[in-house]
Amino acid sequence: MSFDVILRNGRIAGREHDPVDIGVCGGRIADISPRSHAATPDGAREIALDGRLVIPGFVESHIHLDKSCISDRCTCHTGTLQEAIESVAAAKLAFTEEDIYARGRRTLEKAIVQGTTRMRAHVEVDPRIGLKGFRAVSRLKRDYAWAVDIQVCVFPQEGLLNDPGCDELLVAACEDGAELIGGCPYTDGDPRGQIARIFDLGRRYDIDIDFHLDFDLDPSWMHLDEVCRQTAAYGWGGRVAIGHVTKLSAIDQTALEKIGRKLAEAGVAVTVLPATDLFLMGRGAEHSVPRGVTPAHRLLAHGVTCSLATNNVLNPFTPFGDCSLLRMANLYANIAQLGRPDELLACMDMVTLLPAKLMNLRDYGIAVGNPADIVVLDCEERLSAVSELTQPLLAMKRGRISFSRPAATINWPVAMPSSVKDDIGVNSFAGEKSLARLG
Ligand SMILES: [Zn+2]
Repeated sequence: MSFDVILRNGRIAGREHDPVDIGVCGGRIADISPRSHAATPDGAREIALDGRLVIPGFVESHIHLDKSCISDRCTCHTGTLQEAIESVAAAKLAFTEEDIYARGRRTLEKAIVQGTTRMRAHVEVDPRIGLKGFRAVSRLKRDYAWAVDIQVCVFPQEGLLNDPGCDELLVAACEDGAELIGGCPYTDGDPRGQIARIFDLGRRYDIDIDFHLDFDLDPSWMHLDEVCRQTAAYGWGGRVAIGHVTKLSAIDQTALEKIGRKLAEAGVAVTVLPATDLFLMGRGAEHSVPRGVTPAHRLLAHGVTCSLATNNVLNPFTPFGDCSLLRMANLYANIAQLGRPDELLACMDMVTLLPAKLMNLRDYGIAVGNPADIVVLDCEERLSAVSELTQPLLAMKRGRISFSRPAATINWPVAMPSSVKDDIGVNSFAGEKSLARLG
């Protein structure tokens, strides 16, 4: 068998105990075999992974590239969701397509070097911004296809039925290739009407749907029921996701179980956005501030497809962000008080396998025949990845290396004592050598 690249001695996530060699040919995974010391065939490039963890890349199921990196343009005082929406709406008036492209690019490149290989970008469409965001993010999708596959989800952040001209723009974006349509009923004068209209458009263009939903801590009313009802009515199970849903952090276990069963039965997936939800929720509390983050791990137990995602980066919704989904998994584990191995593995699943399922990605995974989307982390198993936040060292997209960085080395001021040499084992050195070769 001939290969373009052979990745030697890697540990595939979920099968960490048996190191393998992965052969890549024509941009696809052509072979996965037990680790071997056989000579590398002529013409193939060899990359020594020295037992490191291999995943098919992180999957970002919810991010806003168009309004990222604008913290310096907004002044905020209360830190509430309402203030974030208003200050971004004001800043948005000055956006140009080039400006959106440049900021989106900065954010996207951060995601790439954090090992993200698939992404769903939510893009605002309304009569103020028009299709500038959609056009800029569509260009980013084309220009960065060598590193990351992007699904573009257009949605009305500031209302639909109460915003004349918005509907026509959403339709124009769908006509022009938007892969998904999203909604934000909580800013609409007629939330149920908006939900119905978004389902209408989803069916008309045969596209999946992704709502921003139930984003506060008042559990006395929810739009979730209506979304489940419409999903069943349209036969759209498995094609609908809802993001935030922070109300579910404010209900008791029995109520959560009931809703979990309902979501699973309807085929409605949930995306939790820990950084934003933590930052914006509970602003009315002076002490014992609620975390406001929905317990996705409990919903998993009822068969709900759940993901953890970045959402906003450097804007009034979330004035932080390195686009690391591993950090989101770790942050969520910390907030949700998860520390058992099975719980930490579930957190890893929620930034890899589960968002891939949520996004209906059918060719995701380290398997023969799939695109050679391969990310190498500087550890041997998923548990360490989540608990220690180990760095991605290399990403390959369709067989081409899209980024690499060397593993860290410690520089001793004098010759390393032999007792330390004996102690740290050989992997650190082998890693340094092999990763130097990648550069
Ligand atoms: Zn969002």
